[in-house]
Amino acid sequence: MNSLDKEYGPFNWEPRYNPADELVFTILSQHTSDINSERAFKILMENFDSLNDIADAEISQIEKCIKSAGLYRIKAKRIKDVLMWVRAEVGSFDLSFLSEMPLEDAKNWLKRIDGIGPKTAAIILCFSLGMPAMPVDTHIYRVSKRLGYIGPKVSADKAHDILEPMVPPEDVFRFHLYLINHGRKVCKALRPLCHQCTISWGCPSRR
Ligand code: SF4
Repeated sequence: MNSLDKEYGPFNWEPRYNPADELVFTILSQHTSDINSERAFKILMENFDSLNDIADAEISQIEKCIKSAGLYRIKAKRIKDVLMWVRAEVGSFDLSFLSEMPLEDAKNWLKRIDGIGPKTAAIILCFSLGMPAMPVDTHIYRVSKRLGYIGPKVSADKAHDILEPMVPPEDVFRFHLYLINHGRKVCKALRPLCHQCTISWGCPSRR
């Protein structure tokens, strides 16, 4: 952690969006870049007055706003379905009650929503509410395997359960960001830059 802290840190947590907005943003960010999903989110929010309006909108209206996010037909329907589900279940879009729940209960509540898996649930709890949930994206999954933190046959979903308890709760957020940064900048998918790697001394996959 110390080496990665020097390399990529410091990261101080502050809320990105409220949990319901984060839910929408996370759907938009699936299988696309941050730039594309941020653009789509901005246009969507500028074109509707509220999440209520998005939930009531025609899917085609949502589609028009989120084209830059890719897979926009699938994502538009998913956003509408998810918002309608939350509204029916909670009576509003205020999901702040999740922060009062034990972590596992909050995760399980979110995973009841169709299409929400461990990664999306962890992103919402971690980024929006500051809870010690560890989202495992493609970079973290790859880096963790190479470092031997998880076995070669462990699924990405299962990796959440293994990686999260590896660090103290107060370090989960920055550990997540360190591994993402390391995966993007050094431990790249095709050609990892092991000669530049600050943690190569402890890596069984060093080349
Ligand atoms: S030594 Fe190479 S494979 Fe291991 S973490 Fe560093 S960059 Fe990745």
